[in-house]
Amino acid sequence: MLDTLSGGYENSIKTASDILRCGGIVAIPTETVYGLAASAYSDESIKKVFKAKGRPQDNPLIVHISDMEMLYEVAEDIPRKAIECANRFWAGPLTMVLKRSGKIAPSVSAGLDTVAVRMPSEKTARDIIKRSGLPLAAPSANTSGLPSPTSYTHVINDLNGKIDAIVLGNDCNVGVESTVISLVGKTPRLLRPGAVTLEQLREILPDIEVDKAVLSRPQEGVKVSSPGMKYKHYAPKTDTYLVEGVSQNFINFVNTKSDALAVCFCEESDKISIKKAVYGSQKDESTLAKNVFKVLRDADCFGVKEIYVHAPSKTGVGLAVYNRLIRAAAYKVIIL
Ligand code: AMP
Ligand code: MG
Repeated sequence: MLDTLSGGYENSIKTASDILRCGGIVAIPTETVYGLAASAYSDESIKKVFKAKGRPQDNPLIVHISDMEMLYEVAEDIPRKAIECANRFWAGPLTMVLKRSGKIAPSVSAGLDTVAVRMPSEKTARDIIKRSGLPLAAPSANTSGLPSPTSYTHVINDLNGKIDAIVLGNDCNVGVESTVISLVGKTPRLLRPGAVTLEQLREILPDIEVDKAVLSRPQEGVKVSSPGMKYKHYAPKTDTYLVEGVSQNFINFVNTKSDALAVCFCEESDKISIKKAVYGSQKDESTLAKNVFKVLRDADCFGVKEIYVHAPSKTGVGLAVYNRLIRAAAYKVIIL
């Protein structure tokens, strides 16, 4: 696998774009998590992405664009609300599900007649899209099921030898994947929470509904609006529990455990007497978002029997963090 840092920024953008134009797959930094990019127009390249990640074929990919012109190439019948959302939240961590154009490779949409589109704010990602002239389908650059990659070392650990190149960048600023909304039905729908919050979306989409699968386990055999939500996700190998309750209750609870790791807020860390890993501040949920996947990846190294994660609030960016943690815990929630 080629790493494209060595020749300087401009050179790395050119190399990555050349590989993508020739049908290759390249891991790139974005502000949410590292993405594994391929041309959204090439079925053959998209299949390589599914294979490298071990991603189920029925889980569609998000298409990344660099400007509004590209939006009209990848989607059709774009509603006015989508343009309003784009004006407010792009470039940034909001993905919109729209009617797909015929140019998009069928495997990107996994057989659906829609396409999920986002314009990333990370300059490197946008420069690669611009330079290649291609909308890029890019799921998270990890092995399916494992926590998403927020630094290039995570990508290398998972995908070394399975992809053509990686563009090295900084650790991801946001740390959780984009907010996904659907604008194809009668009512706008939140399919996956992210750093663009439900509260912010309501300012433009006052009638937005939250899909059931955001906070609960999709029922066996029932069709879900966003196929990705039915899969096991983000899970450490160690048995993990999400714990809801005030700090004092969490501290008292974990201090009775012997062979466990407490994943906690910095404000409560001093009072915890068992093994612990801090994932940010209770007062600033964006810090939790930034660190949650790194903490989940590192958690197995503690060699404990169980992991207890103190749940964030379900408001603001906290909802996105809660959504990832409940999956990491396979929906095992302890309420104190
Ligand atoms: P990832 O690429 O790993 O960030 O996951 C992309 C998420 O977007 C998954 O949960 C997908 O199910 C969802 N998604 C992508 N395309 C669509 C679509 N056309 N309709 C509904 N959900 C989608
Ligand atoms: Mg993913």
